[in-house]
Amino acid sequence: MINIPEIFAENVFNENVMRDKLPKEVFKKLMKTIDLGEPLDVSIANVVANAMKDWAVEKGATHYTHWFQPMTGITAEKHDSFITPTAGGKVIMSFGGKELIQGEPDASSFPSGGLRATFEARGYTAWDPSSYAFVKDGTLYIPTAFCSYTGEALDKKTPLLRSMDAISKQACRVMKLFGKDVKRVTTTVGPEQEYFLVDKKYYDQRKDLIFTGRTLFGAMSPKGQEMEDHYFGTIKPRIAAFMADLDVELWKYGLLAKTKHNEVAPAQHEIAPIFSTTNIATDNNQLLMDIAKKVALKHGMVCLLHEKPFDGVNGSGKHNNWSMSTDMGENLLNPGKNPKDNAQFMLILTAVITAVDKYAKLMRLSVASAGNDHRLGANEAPPAIVSVFLGDELERVVRDIIDGGESTVGGQAKIELGVTTLPVFPKDNTDRNRTSPFAFTGNRFEFRMPGSSQSIGCINMMLNTAVADVFKNFADELEGAEDFQKALNALIKRELTAHQRVIFNGNGYDDNWVAEAEKRGLPNLRSTPEALAAYDEFIDLFEETGVLSEAELKSRQEILLDEYAKTIAIESRTMVDMSKKDILPAVASYVKELSDIACNKKTLGLNADLEIKQIDKLSTLASDAYDKTAALEEAIAGAADVEGAQNSANYEHETVIPAMDALRAVADEMELNTAEKYWPFPAYDKLLFGI
Ligand code: ADP
Ligand code: MG
Repeated sequence: MINIPEIFAENVFNENVMRDKLPKEVFKKLMKTIDLGEPLDVSIANVVANAMKDWAVEKGATHYTHWFQPMTGITAEKHDSFITPTAGGKVIMSFGGKELIQGEPDASSFPSGGLRATFEARGYTAWDPSSYAFVKDGTLYIPTAFCSYTGEALDKKTPLLRSMDAISKQACRVMKLFGKDVKRVTTTVGPEQEYFLVDKKYYDQRKDLIFTGRTLFGAMSPKGQEMEDHYFGTIKPRIAAFMADLDVELWKYGLLAKTKHNEVAPAQHEIAPIFSTTNIATDNNQLLMDIAKKVALKHGMVCLLHEKPFDGVNGSGKHNNWSMSTDMGENLLNPGKNPKDNAQFMLILTAVITAVDKYAKLMRLSVASAGNDHRLGANEAPPAIVSVFLGDELERVVRDIIDGGESTVGGQAKIELGVTTLPVFPKDNTDRNRTSPFAFTGNRFEFRMPGSSQSIGCINMMLNTAVADVFKNFADELEGAEDFQKALNALIKRELTAHQRVIFNGNGYDDNWVAEAEKRGLPNLRSTPEALAAYDEFIDLFEETGVLSEAELKSRQEILLDEYAKTIAIESRTMVDMSKKDILPAVASYVKELSDIACNKKTLGLNADLEIKQIDKLSTLASDAYDKTAALEEAIAGAADVEGAQNSANYEHETVIPAMDALRAVADEMELNTAEKYWPFPAYDKLLFGI
């Protein structure tokens, strides 16, 4: 039996350990740094580093690493040992404050989107003391942010931390309006992680899964998800063993792994932790993805984090539950029971609605990736159109405020902010709208557009920045008001009226919604290149909030466009490879067997109509597949003539993807007409139902 409280966070240098291992004064200073999000005082760094090293060595660590989140890939790490030579040819284990605070990885191989020329390739990593260090596989991991020597952000973490400062600053101003002396407002996030598990022996036979994380070919198996028997269904023993192991591993790293269940598609599952502060939730989610992959391998399975590993069944997302909380522990999205809290809640809610409408394109581009393009707008995930779901009760409150008429809720005469109580909003009601991209769920918003493989760093950085900007405008206006109550009511009414178009409680998968959204003037950015092109519209927002400079923003845009184009390039080349080396030869072998049978039958004077029909059909399909492969190769070659990141991404989207789709359609048709033993790799039945 595992003693969970005992193993929990055993690999983490957390507050308890620090209290235990650090001199009292140093501990107090460090805690203050963490709570107020201030930089670490160098005078205490040596003491902290030494205690950290002693603790890590006790846990079997020989090395340390500054762990960071570059713009591409999951995480990056370079390991240095603690050894320092001493006189007489021996070594001691040492680790100083300087090494704790700052590291200097050779940054030249990390994408910088033109921010840093290779001759000045050095970047540095800086410890984020608010995220605990931990020991993993014999190394002390120090969560860090990664910047260039001139201070530009080269990672996903730096701007996230800046955005947390930006929103905190403005939210504190807003809280002051309500007479609350709040020192820090942190954003909180609980990311629900979806994933697929496939048997490693099948995975190993598919180049597409190995190179791209998704199947590029594959006809649907006779059974898919139509019976809806998987969601919350009984968990198979092998999966259950994996999940149990994963929980234990995550707990050891102090991750609050809480909920696990089967998801909608066969072979699809979910794990959700209890929410935490955004930067910690981000670090933890990166760690969770990493650990899930490793634990799956121990169980002979591969954990697929791609947004769309299989055509024809649901893809995977990462629902980002988001809220804000003060240093006094008040959740700003909690409607509250006191009438005097209503006004505050309605102002915060209005700010979020305003931000999501004003920055709808930003919300959309925050989740743009080649993988997520398969989900958004395909009939299973939220559409690419950003809208807000409030639920019936809250929407009626909003309508009442806009109309200024009699209240229709809770038998009350009229909602008077700060005077009457709001109705109780049911939390977690099961029938709540699952099709909405941004849904109010009782005391938080659930942003459902993020893809399963994405870092939640950028997503929350953008969300925080958008809301910070609106808070700033609101605070600017209300701080100067003569009659606060009056000004507040007017502002809420005015902003809700201006942004009500983004509120939508209906079915987001419905085609009518696309038309309706267009009428309302809501943007619908269908693809990643289209979404990323909108970056330029947000230069002012990011500069004014101090989250990203124009150069940093442009570099991000460039890196993401480039990543998109490269992803499609790899997928398309993999398809050509599989078609020419695996699929076409396999079909030829099967046709040869059919021909042999036909010849034998004829020699015996028998009718060979069946074989001839099959040969005919497969020959036509194979010939078509050959042509479609050639067309895809031509499309791939054409990319070399395209210049610039945006044009290259557009080209892949407009020219290469249609050629890929055309080839897949013929190949999948051949798969349906070829004997299983001839097909060169395991089909969907094995992948989806093989565990
Ligand atoms: P469901 O699948 O029903 O949407 P889950 O229980 O799987 O819900 O996940 C809900 C997530 O929301 C959890 O990670 C939970 O901790 C998180 N959450 C709850 N309250 C907050 C909050 N105030 N801020 C951020 N996340 C929250
Ligand atoms: Mg869930």
